[in-house]
Amino acid sequence: MASAYTTPGLVCSHHHLYSALARGMPAPPRTPHGFLEILELVWWRLDRALDLDLIHWSAMLGALECLEVGCTAVIDHHESPQAIEGSLSVIADACAEVGVRASCAYGVTDRHGAEGARRGLAENERFLRAGGDGYVGVHAAFTCTDETLEAAAGLAADLGVGVHIHVAEGEADAPAAERLADLSRPDWLLIHGVHLPDQHALQGTLVHNPRSNMNNAVGYARPARFEATGNPVALGTDGIGSDMLDEFRIAYVRLRESDVTAGPETPWQWLSTGWDLMPEARNDHVTWNYAAMEPWHLAFSPGVRPERVEVAGEEVWADGRSTRVDAAEVRAKAAEAAQRLFRRLDDLD
Ligand SMILES: [Zn+2]
Repeated sequence: MASAYTTPGLVCSHHHLYSALARGMPAPPRTPHGFLEILELVWWRLDRALDLDLIHWSAMLGALECLEVGCTAVIDHHESPQAIEGSLSVIADACAEVGVRASCAYGVTDRHGAEGARRGLAENERFLRAGGDGYVGVHAAFTCTDETLEAAAGLAADLGVGVHIHVAEGEADAPAAERLADLSRPDWLLIHGVHLPDQHALQGTLVHNPRSNMNNAVGYARPARFEATGNPVALGTDGIGSDMLDEFRIAYVRLRESDVTAGPETPWQWLSTGWDLMPEARNDHVTWNYAAMEPWHLAFSPGVRPERVEVAGEEVWADGRSTRVDAAEVRAKAAEAAQRLFRRLDDLD
């Protein structure tokens, strides 16, 4: 009977834990009028302001907020051009301290020149060779030269991992379909795919982030179409929290808006793909405050919350609180860090 209340740990298949401190950040210097301006005026300013201490507290807060919503495993994508070296270990260590499984990647890009790309690749290599769990990260094809894309694909192949890359999120990155066609492999994570053509040659799991796509007004990825090209579909938040039941609900209504015959089993399958990407989360146990943890109930039941979370046999969340860390202290330190981040943002050009 109790099994109706339990699920394995949920998996967020695309996250940016560094955005945990971004909430309440100062307004950008002017109002962004599209996806590229959102990147330039908001996210590429934020990532330049990050240092290792800010990365630590964003990951601590982000990981704590994972457990709060029953997410025990995160596939993170990180960028901090002023603090590249060691950044992935800072994230992995913070998640381990809280008791959340993390798969890390540094988003390589040529936005900061060839040297910046080289340092990003080196951070991926350092972390993975030291036994870290993750992918070789690439920001997106449209901010990388062909040489950088080939180097990232080559490094990933050498290390036996996939590449974690944003693909065709906005129209500016539509050429990614062709540029990556000969490089991609089945173990790649292709994030968004909004502007991929119905027929494309990319291999890998397509990660759908419906709330983020709506927030950035980039369009609907229509992920159901990727079945035809043999790409499994998973769900991520793209850094807007870790509430995977909520993301499932949004994925469902967005699908339903375009196809009134669709059922919630389809987005539930997308959510379940996370367990193929991080199989260890299947061994985690979440006991929820709701008796029917199945798609037709959950699609219409906001507010379902975990009462108990067990990761790798250890209870890490019970009675609404972390068993590992002092949540009030983490929140206070993260709030202080956020104020420091905001001052650094104000000091940018
Ligand atoms: Zn992203």
